[in-house]
Amino acid sequence: EAKRRAHGSYQLFEPQMAEEVNRLLQLESDIRTSYQEHHFTFYLQPLIDLHARSLVGAEALIRWEHPLRGLVQPGEFIGFLENSDMINPVGLQLLDDVCQFIRMHKEQGRFPPELRIAVNISERQLYDADFVGKCQSVLRKYKLPGSCLEFEITEGAALHNLDEVVDKMRKLQNEGITFALDDFGTGYSSLSYLKRLPVNKVKIDKSFIDDITIDPQDAAMVASIIAIARNMNLLIVAEGVETDAQAQWLSQYEGILIQGYLFDKPLTAQTFAQNYLPEPAVF
Ligand code: C2E
Ligand code: MG
Ligand code: MG
Ligand code: MG
Repeated sequence: EAKRRAHGSYQLFEPQMAEEVNRLLQLESDIRTSYQEHHFTFYLQPLIDLHARSLVGAEALIRWEHPLRGLVQPGEFIGFLENSDMINPVGLQLLDDVCQFIRMHKEQGRFPPELRIAVNISERQLYDADFVGKCQSVLRKYKLPGSCLEFEITEGAALHNLDEVVDKMRKLQNEGITFALDDFGTGYSSLSYLKRLPVNKVKIDKSFIDDITIDPQDAAMVASIIAIARNMNLLIVAEGVETDAQAQWLSQYEGILIQGYLFDKPLTAQTFAQNYLPEPAVF
């Protein structure tokens, strides 16, 4: 026991560990400052109807415009952020920014009423006691209906208190916000959550899409997910479509929506508006 403890305390002074602790402390204070100075922003990736080849929506994806490091991708910080309390203010700031973007383009007559911008909502945000109230306030602030928004959640978000999450989802649906189940198939009990969460859409994770044209097991899995989602009257998105062959394979099914580099990558909000929103109305 003494030996184990001694070993344990000795480990605290391993230089590698100290480095890691330092890195995380630095990241935390960096995030705090960047929140205050509004260095977090979002890109928009178009969501396309595969058959019609038309825009049906876009997903807002967080980006960190770091004053020293340049543009930082979520892979480098989102895990840490989602496990810290800062996800709540940062997530709300992002939602506010998205709504401001929609308001501005609505005023210019450039935001089609049927378009929705999807925003990723993480577990801690859903467990914030006043999450619904905060979302309602942002909608009121910009005088927007909830029907211009979709929230993307993962099954992990409902892991701890399903009833509370479902209750909040219903309240937000009453505002017109729809829900998508993100990264579908990657969790432990996707089917059980698909049944219990009131979602309108499933997003089939990229890891299933990658090899649909070469791996019969992946193809069978995606075919089954599509069949289930259809029987449940859900919209279906294939995430991470990169090749013509994948699009070709998916096009054997009606009504599939795709999001992926094949069609377009995430764009700055300004570029998205230039390339995808109608011209400003001239009065
Ligand atoms: P996600 O919600 O599943 O978003 C899709 C990710 O796939 C995005 O990565 C997107 O850029 C990437 N992607 C789309 N098409 C392709 C493709 O054809 N090939 C490849 N290789 N990748 C593709 P991104 O922007 O790096 O975001 C990663 C994850 O970070 C997101 O996965 C989401 O879980 C999280 N995230 C992003 N923005 C937010 C946010 O505002 N809040 C929260 N809580 N999480 C966010
Ligand atoms: Mg997403
Ligand atoms: Mg996903
Ligand atoms: Mg995700």
